[in-house]
Amino acid sequence: MPRVVRESYWETYTIETVEFDRIQKDGSPDGGGFAFHLKDGELKDWPLSDAGLVNLLRCVVPDAVAYAWDWNDDSESFEQGWTATKGKIKKYTDQYKWPKIIQCCENGQVELENFTNTCGSCGADYNSSGQLLAPRHMWGEETGEHWSEIY
Ligand SMILES: [Zn+2]
Repeated sequence: MPRVVRESYWETYTIETVEFDRIQKDGSPDGGGFAFHLKDGELKDWPLSDAGLVNLLRCVVPDAVAYAWDWNDDSESFEQGWTATKGKIKKYTDQYKWPKIIQCCENGQVELENFTNTCGSCGADYNSSGQLLAPRHMWGEETGEHWSEIY
């Protein structure tokens, strides 16, 4: 078994978002909405994509977007548009499992994040617990599977 460089571990982290619910023209929520991630109270994914920026503007200053809207683009009619509720800041905690890392060969460390994990240096394959797998040309000989079914 190769040397373990790092054991896997769970990291708990907090996600902070500002969230808006979409409101239809008749005033009822349509179930949709938008969430923008924050970091230290600022928008985290800045600059936003064009579509994200339009959504954010329509949430916070809908009138401004009415003027900025490209009227030649009729993919979404402004008549059929929506307004948004006042944004609410919400916090969530979530967990991420950092995968185990093993030392495969002198220049190759392998992160065991997948069912099959390949060393970028020598090409050796490991399963998710770090056991060396048989060379690929032998895969399937015992189980009758074709190697392409193993991914
Ligand atoms: Zn290797």
